[in-house]
Amino acid sequence: MESCPYCKKEIDSLISICPHCQKSLKPDYPGMNPKWFLGIWIFFLALVAVMLISMFGR
Ligand SMILES: [Zn+2]
Repeated sequence: MESCPYCKKEIDSLISICPHCQKSLKPDYPGMNPKWFLGIWIFFLALVAVMLISMFGR
């Protein structure tokens, strides 16, 4: 058994959210990775840039 780092109660090591205090025990979840957000932002900005160039670049 592991213990919750927030409320110190014993929890199952397989669960991702503590049943006692409802805190997320896996902050490194891939969907919340800052690098992932940065990649999406770069893609979005590149898309906007291409749209602007295609609209005003004629
Ligand atoms: Zn807890």
